[in-house]
Amino acid sequence: MEFFNNNGSQRRQFLQLALLAAATAILHSCSPNNSMAKLTEKNILIIGAGIAGIAAARKLIKNGFAVKILEGRNRIGGRINTNRSLGLAVDLGAAWIHGITDNPLTSLATEFKINIKETDYENIQVYNSTGKSLSETILDDAYELYDNIIEEVENLADKLDEDISVGEGWRRVIRQQKPSPKMEKILKWYMNYEIELDNGTDLDNLSLWYVDDDEAFDGEDYIFPDGYDQIIQGLAAGLEIELSQKVTEVIWSESGVEVKTATGEQYTADGALLTLPLGVLKSNQVKFSPNLPLGKRHAIENLSMGVYNKVVLKFPEIFWPENRDFLGYVSDKQPDFGLFLNLSRHGGEPVLVALTAGSFAKSLESLSDEELQAKVMEVLRRLYGTNIPEPVQMLRTSWSQDPFSFGSYSYIPVGATTEDRETLAAPVGKRLFFAGEATSTQYPATVHGALLSGLRAAKEIKRRFKS
Ligand SMILES: Cc1cc2nc3c(=O)[nH]c(=O)nc-3n(C[C@H](O)[C@H](O)[C@H](O)COP(=O)(O)OP(=O)(O)OC[C@H]3O[C@@H](n4cnc5c(N)ncnc54)[C@H](O)[C@@H]3O)c2cc1C
Repeated sequence: MEFFNNNGSQRRQFLQLALLAAATAILHSCSPNNSMAKLTEKNILIIGAGIAGIAAARKLIKNGFAVKILEGRNRIGGRINTNRSLGLAVDLGAAWIHGITDNPLTSLATEFKINIKETDYENIQVYNSTGKSLSETILDDAYELYDNIIEEVENLADKLDEDISVGEGWRRVIRQQKPSPKMEKILKWYMNYEIELDNGTDLDNLSLWYVDDDEAFDGEDYIFPDGYDQIIQGLAAGLEIELSQKVTEVIWSESGVEVKTATGEQYTADGALLTLPLGVLKSNQVKFSPNLPLGKRHAIENLSMGVYNKVVLKFPEIFWPENRDFLGYVSDKQPDFGLFLNLSRHGGEPVLVALTAGSFAKSLESLSDEELQAKVMEVLRRLYGTNIPEPVQMLRTSWSQDPFSFGSYSYIPVGATTEDRETLAAPVGKRLFFAGEATSTQYPATVHGALLSGLRAAKEIKRRFKS
């Protein structure tokens, strides 16, 4: 087990190059309008126009299937959602390509000529609660200790007979190490930065055994200064997508599938691919007739949906170190706003994005706009003084309340295992197939994981209907 790679992401450094080469080739060669000979005349309904559904649609069309996508929202992209109301592109959902090397998103960005820009997690200014900058030496010392503790926690995990939370593992090790209170605060800040934000939940919810049971691409993380949605627009060109069709019921048998939507429409197909987010499956808002098998229902129950929210503030001018990619705040009060992305470096406008996760992120959703803004400003005033200007505009996310995702991305809580993801991914009967980030064992909670899951499901559908 290993918690983090060098660039701050915890995803493990292991590549399945053959699979990825195939995935990249498929995406490249697959224009929905191309005139490939049809292997089959089968109709497939795809539920959800996020990256998983869209990637699957392209591959299926290439393989001769007739494909229609039903999307509940009035836009495509799902958890990829670019907002341009502040005069620059702000990604309210996914923002980064995590690990640029051999990532299928990198090839897509090249294919669609989309500008991407590296963000450097080490290019960060970190402050304490009196607004004083922490020196590189303090941060380096703290990180060294943090690394040692993580190693100890990993050793502990290997010795356990039953799973515990990452938080509990951390406490057991810290009890032995006894860092100074000042150091412990910085260590906790690292934990939030590197684990809680990545998983969208508090350490006390996360399975210690499975927190690192995923993989990662090598290389740095990159953002899309002009918006992640360009990837979606590029991939979705030419696809048949019906918007504002919220699926309410999926009736399935061994001979076909019928899908009902909230507008009263009814669709029939030879098969259906469901890319519904885990949060939607958990909410039971989509009825399955007959019900999904018990194993599938258990997997849905066992896995959890994390929350990761953003507060985007546009100011009249920049009052923070403009050359830093990130600003960090080691607060005396936990939890608090610990990390800001300096978007002015990428979008040219004076914009900061506060990044929050877990119960803190969720608690912010119940605040009014005024209360939320005041709470972020209290932190920024500690760092930059009382004379800083008020924001001129604010955007906020409330992903846990979003009726089309009920959360940000999936994680494995204590009591669940990676096998639950496999069960979630498995087809049901001969006609129902499943994709989406939560079904990915290798790259869950990411855009590339969702994309590859769509390609995996398309392959399963092809195999099913070719024979
Ligand atoms: C705030 C945030 C930040 C993130 N940051 C990153 C990042 O930087 N990098 C990264 O790699 N990943 C990131 N992620 C994760 C990434 O966005 C997701 O893993 C990925 O986009 C999921 O794609 P998907 O196709 O599985 O699901 P979705 O994109 O959610 O697609 C599912 C689709 O189904 C639709 N749907 C839901 N219910 C119904 C219904 N009843 N009927 C019809 N349609 C329905 C939804 O509207 C949606 O369009 C982030 C996510 C969030 C929320």
